Amino acid sequence: MLSFYGVYKSYTPPYFALSDINFSVEKGEFLFITGPSGAGKTTIIKLITREESLSRGKILFEGTDISRIPRSKLHLFRRKLGIIFQDFRLIPYLTVFENVALPLIVRGGGKQETYQRVTSALKELEIIHKAREFPNALSGGEQQRVAIARAIAGSPDLLLADEPTGNLDPFLSRKIMKILQRINMKGTTVIVATHDRALIEEFAKKVIYLTYGKIKKII
Ligand code: ADP
Repeated sequence: MLSFYGVYKSYTPPYFALSDINFSVEKGEFLFITGPSGAGKTTIIKLITREESLSRGKILFEGTDISRIPRSKLHLFRRKLGIIFQDFRLIPYLTVFENVALPLIVRGGGKQETYQRVTSALKELEIIHKAREFPNALSGGEQQRVAIARAIAGSPDLLLADEPTGNLDPFLSRKIMKILQRINMKGTTVIVATHDRALIEEFAKKVIYLTYGKIKKII
């Protein structure tokens, strides 16, 4: 589904944030990317979303070379992705329901379909009872559940999570990981970038270890 071929990324030449990155993720897999701060985890996520462009190499997603997607078509490509961030990135002046609905409305979803998708995602994340609240009224763990609901409401092919548990305590972190695992077991491919070794030991099947922008090992 997703393959990196000899990918390099330099923000400030001659330094490389990523060097010669090669890996593949198959449909339905759950991949962890780990390594110390600055190792290049976020850069890998940003290259997949085309938030950043690679300097050399190739990334194929479902057979498409993502560097070649024209800017005018990027929004169509990004509909296939669900993205979760460490800081949740919910819009404070929208309710929980509206936060989850917004990307669906932006992509032109009908009223009834949007309602059904949002309700179903909020139920799946067991946060439907907070649908009318604003994000500020929710705990960190609850906000992250809303952010995950938003990411899955559009039925993405690939769910990307960049340090999704970075702002949560160990108990809530495990809970969020279990949710991601459950989403994966229902068929969504998941990539999680995290420096949290404890989570990897408990949850990981496939792990890419990065140091200084290079793959040290894949297990
Ligand atoms: P990680 O997510 O593992 O902490 P990052 O992918 O954020 O690592 O960063 C990898 C390297 O790229 C670091 O050396 C970082 O300083 C550098 N870097 C990241 N983003 C930028 C940027 N926008 N401009 C310049 N350098 C950057």
